[in-house]
Order: sequence, then C-alpha cells, then structure tokens
Amino acid sequence: MRPTDPTRTLSEKVFLIFFFPAIILLYLIYKYPTWFVPSDQVTTTFYWFGKSTSFWYNTLYTGIVCSLCLKILLKGKTPYGRDRHKPISPYQRNKFRSIFVSQFIFFYFIPFYLPFLKGSQPFFGDSYLPLNKNAYVYVYNGFTSTGGFLYIFIIVPLSVWLFGKRYCSWFCACGNLAETIGVTKWGNQWVTRNTPRGKVAQKLEVLQYILLAFALLFGCLLFFHGWKIISAPQLVDSLRAFQDLTIDLIFGALIGVGAYPFLGTRVWCRYGCPLAALMRLYGKYAKSQFQVVANENCKGLNLCSTQCPMGIDVATYAHKNKVPLLGTFGLQNSPCIGCGGCIDICPVKALSFQKILNPKTTTLTTAKEPQ
Ligand code: SF4
Ligand code: SF4
Ligand code: SF4
Repeated sequence: MRPTDPTRTLSEKVFLIFFFPAIILLYLIYKYPTWFVPSDQVTTTFYWFGKSTSFWYNTLYTGIVCSLCLKILLKGKTPYGRDRHKPISPYQRNKFRSIFVSQFIFFYFIPFYLPFLKGSQPFFGDSYLPLNKNAYVYVYNGFTSTGGFLYIFIIVPLSVWLFGKRYCSWFCACGNLAETIGVTKWGNQWVTRNTPRGKVAQKLEVLQYILLAFALLFGCLLFFHGWKIISAPQLVDSLRAFQDLTIDLIFGALIGVGAYPFLGTRVWCRYGCPLAALMRLYGKYAKSQFQVVANENCKGLNLCSTQCPMGIDVATYAHKNKVPLLGTFGLQNSPCIGCGGCIDICPVKALSFQKILNPKTTTLTTAKEPQ
C-alpha cells in the first residue's frame, strides 16, 4: 500500500483517510448489523424510512455505477487516455450501456421494486432478515438449486465460449463498480499506477484456483447435506463461517473494494473470485475463440500495458524492442476480461478483438508467453 504516494493530490489523500474506515463500517453494518445492536433493534437503528440496509447499500452502489455510465455516454468521449476529444468507440459505448442496464434492471429494479409493483409486499417497512449470501461469483450456489446449476454450469460457460470473460466487464455487479470507477480520474490512476504487474503478481493468480477448489468442496458438501446423504452440520457450519467472513467480507468486500486506491480496481477479480477461475478454465479447455490480436501498426508505446486492470503485459504480445510481433492472447494464457481498455488507448490502432463467431477472418501468429 502506498497511502503517502507523492503523486496523489491533497484532496485524494484526504479522501483516502476516510475511505477505508468508511468501507469497513458500511460493510459491517450492511452484513452484520447484529454485531452492533441486538437483532430486535436492527430495524429501529439502521433501517432508514423503513427500508433495509441492503436497499440503501444497493441504492448507493447502483447510483454510483449508473451515474458514471450516464456521464460517459452523454459526454460521448473515450474514457481512456488523455485525448479528451477522441470519440467513444462503439465497443465502449455498448459496454457502458450494458453495465447501466444490467446494474439497474437485474441488480436493483428486479430485486427491490418488482416484488412491490407485483403487490406481493409493501414498499416501506422491511423486516429484518439476515442477508442471504447467494452471489453466484462464489460458485458453490451452483450446487444448491437448479437455477444456480444452470447459471454456473451452462449459461456462464456458453457466454465464455462466445464472448470470453466479457461477462466481467459488461454484466457482473461486482465488475460494474470496478469498470466504472476504473475510468474516473482517480480510479484510472489507481489502475495504471497501482495494479500489481510482473511475474510474481502473475504467479499469485493461482490463489483464485485455491478459492475455486474451496467453493467446489463447499458446494458438494451443501449438495450432499441437502440430500441427507452425508450429514456433517459442524463441518458445513465451519465452512460457511469461513466463506462468509474470510472470503465474502474480508477478501471480497473489504480488500476487493477497499483496496481500489492501493492495488487497482480488480484485485478481487484477479486473485479472489472463484467464478473467474472457473471461467478461465472454461475458456481454456473449451478453446474459446475470444482473443486480443496485435497487428503490424504497433510502435512500442506500451500504453496498453499500463491500462490493463488485470495486470496483463499486453505490449509483450504486440512488440519486441518496438518491432511488431503480431501476437495474440486469450483465456488460454491470460485473465483478460475483454474490457477493451488496451485497445481503446492505443493511438495507432494496433490492437483489436478477434471476431468471435467468425474466427477464420483473422490470421494469427501466437506470441510467446510474456517474459
Ligand atoms: S471476476 Fe468475478 S466478481 Fe469480478 S467481474 Fe468477474 S465474475 Fe464478477
Ligand atoms: S499496441 Fe499500441 S499501445 Fe501497445 S505497445 Fe503497441 S503501439 Fe503501444
Ligand atoms: S488485456 Fe485489454 S481487454 Fe483484456 S483486460 Fe486487459 S485492458 Fe482489458
């Protein structure tokens, strides 16, 4: 962490003093209100206007994501790089449209307003219910319901085969915040300056596979527990406590969001998220045609590498000593989420996405793994 980084402005430093404590307090009240007050006092203490902490948290979250998307779309200029006059590309326009729609419709309107509009519950006066941690990013929910199974093991792999991990930059609720904050003035500096890069950072990505192994084990136990074939309540309870506190709260929330200013916006997506590890395996073994391709225009400017929120050294596929390599990479050798930042920032149009449904239109030469 570099909280005293001299390149930060005074206002950013002041913001950082409050940011991490505020994140901790917000998440603890949101997820564990009974750590502060008895459960019968949660609604009178933390439920403003009769609405739950979950409602207010998601209102704030969705408000930030959607207002940033609107700002980018209305401005019509690229959110990447210093050229403030360059028009936004169709790819980026569609990406931010998708983020806006997915965040507003799927993660806000449907869970919070649709039940009320259908008349199945009053809008004000939520009763206290401990949060049901059913996020699909934790994978184990694929073992607990038919819908979860279809989502994790059918829909997501199909989407990876067609579009790579674009799910992470176009749709996922966690990715929506990372993607929009990552193109703000401060957020973009956090990405370019603080994203872990290099060999060690790359090797540490293995942590994600360890979390995936845990998720699959936990999912199997929940499945068997539900069917009463094996009943190990203490083991299930211990694993659930580990999942809720260590993975969900500490890694996913506090480090995942709280470390934005110190490690870039995708530390959870790169080192934690079990679904991302599963998507990488799907992409690798299903031979997803999703690729980033470099062409002969490359001038060796290296801007693409600085812009990647996943720490991929894009330039090593594009040139060696400023001589174009015509390289390509995809999920077989990188955690690329298809955000398009590297493509957008390149001033000489040396990078593009391979056409996914018609891959034979692009001739490819695979570059060596980056050194
Ligand atoms: S890596 Fe996981 S948390 Fe991040 S955007 Fe992708 S699915 Fe969501
Ligand atoms: S691809 Fe573009 S940004 Fe990357 S090194 Fe080549 S010229 Fe520079
Ligand atoms: S390689 Fe390019 S498209 Fe892939 S995650 Fe990095 S910046 Fe985004």
